[in-house]
Amino acid sequence: MTDTPAHTGPRDTAVAALAALPPAQPPLLSLVSDGTILICGDGAAAIDAGLRLAASLDVTVLLDDGGLTPVPDGLSFPVARGRIASATGHFGAYQAVVDGYVPPDGMALPRDGAVSRCDVILDLAARPPLFPAHEARDGYLRAEVADPAAFDAAIAEASELVGEFEKPQYIAFRKELCAHSRSSITGCTRCLDACAMQAIAPAGEHVTIDAYVCAGCGNCAAVCPTGAASYTLPTVDMQLDRLRTLLTSYRAAGGRDPVVLFHDGYVGQPLIDAAGPALPAHVLPMAVNEIKQIGLESLAAAFAYGAAGIGILARRAPRNGVATLAGTVDLAGAFAAALGYGEDSCRILHADTPDDMLAELAALPLGHAAPAPASFAPVGSKRELLELSLRMLHRVAPAPVEQVALPQGAPFGKVHVQTDGCTLCHACVTACPTGALSASEDRPLLSFSHGACVQCGLCESTCPEQVITLEPTLDFAAWNAPRQILKEEEPFCCIRCAKPFGTKSTIERIIAKLEGKHWMFAGENARRLDAIRMCEDCRVEAVLNEGIDPYAGTARPKPRLAEDHRAPIDFDGRRH
Ligand code: SF4
Ligand code: SF4
Repeated sequence: MTDTPAHTGPRDTAVAALAALPPAQPPLLSLVSDGTILICGDGAAAIDAGLRLAASLDVTVLLDDGGLTPVPDGLSFPVARGRIASATGHFGAYQAVVDGYVPPDGMALPRDGAVSRCDVILDLAARPPLFPAHEARDGYLRAEVADPAAFDAAIAEASELVGEFEKPQYIAFRKELCAHSRSSITGCTRCLDACAMQAIAPAGEHVTIDAYVCAGCGNCAAVCPTGAASYTLPTVDMQLDRLRTLLTSYRAAGGRDPVVLFHDGYVGQPLIDAAGPALPAHVLPMAVNEIKQIGLESLAAAFAYGAAGIGILARRAPRNGVATLAGTVDLAGAFAAALGYGEDSCRILHADTPDDMLAELAALPLGHAAPAPASFAPVGSKRELLELSLRMLHRVAPAPVEQVALPQGAPFGKVHVQTDGCTLCHACVTACPTGALSASEDRPLLSFSHGACVQCGLCESTCPEQVITLEPTLDFAAWNAPRQILKEEEPFCCIRCAKPFGTKSTIERIIAKLEGKHWMFAGENARRLDAIRMCEDCRVEAVLNEGIDPYAGTARPKPRLAEDHRAPIDFDGRRH
């Protein structure tokens, strides 16, 4: 039944159930363009473009041609000369810095650092594009002048770029969850590394995401281990609910061994439509806004809800690559293989034609679906849903194991502490952005929660004793266990009030180093050691009321005042 396209009843039921779910409603951003366009080029094509756009847009042409291109008289728009050194901003608010700038009237010497502001840039120059991943940048159009069709298309598109526009705010960001940095030490950089648009920048302890530059690929949200960055189209809980609906409806209608086929609307949907009835009946299309938005929680949940395989439909040569998605797929594959769902049953399927797609689907190994799939309701934050999906993946697995070794860089793992070298200074606790490491108010100890650690490395980099190492792994037993005590010591209790205030070993080590060996703590000064044996409150009281100051130095010379200088002093010290 699974391979016979004619038996599509269960799939039809599942697809209908999926279609009945409400659509995502992401927040929207407004972008306003007054129609100011900077056309840059190195020849007459830039002037030609200006002539064609002048009726609809406020045109400025910038020629980087060494002054070779003749400028016709009587143009309705200015033509300046110069070379764009850098460009920043977004649709509706671009800014270009121009070197060698010569104004349109030509009545000035070339100067560097001139600034041009515009809503739209039409870039016809032969040099490399001004922005990374430029195809996805709204309001930045680029065309080869030698390609008339591309040139005409760019002109047509530019002429429409005036007015008020809306775009989804694809990423919801909660800076308080971000694990980027603490105390100027860098931790997580996953989203920074993954964003082809360079829409993300460090901003102190967290990052910032420029929603106006963001093109919505979803890479950052997919790799963010803390849930600081999450996708909105749809949100993670909606995405998991869609998977649940699709897979539980399919199974309830009698379907078996489903393969979830994630696809987008512009590459995948046309291939699926063209394949028509040739699409195997056990393949369940699951539309997403962008395939790169698919995170580990979706892949884990799909297996937990009963998928026997997962395919993600991409072009043969996807724009800006799919390296980040491939990393997520590898991670999901490692979990699936270790827990008995089958080897290699989660793959990116590269296809440019329906036949490519069908061949890739035929080559996708069918894994082992969960014998009693989960049906959990996906409620919670992004990180909570990631944890929940993985717990469920483990709970319903065909062959569960307690521990899965993961590749370097995986967002789950252990922290190892060489307890001999650890002084329980708790610098790591202060650095840990997720609360995975914590101290106790009652006793000197360091405890660790496996489920909360995202392997950001901040504790390892912060530890002054360099006794922390990380191990990427997922230990399900440890996830379900109480916090692990990594190190615990006897507290030292204040000799006055008996309050515990430090570790016994540390206080005794300090006293052993000072006692009888330093003039400040020798002889009659030995009572100063008592202050070291006191808690902070009692020490302050002792210093103020009893003159016990462990840090006091020798008596300072009496300061000389103005009158001391005025009155002469005898050799015997008497003042006249
Ligand atoms: S925690 Fe998330 S948002 Fe913060 S740096 Fe890491 S990936 Fe980026
Ligand atoms: S325990 Fe260390 S690696 Fe894990 S989240 Fe905390 S600081 Fe990062």
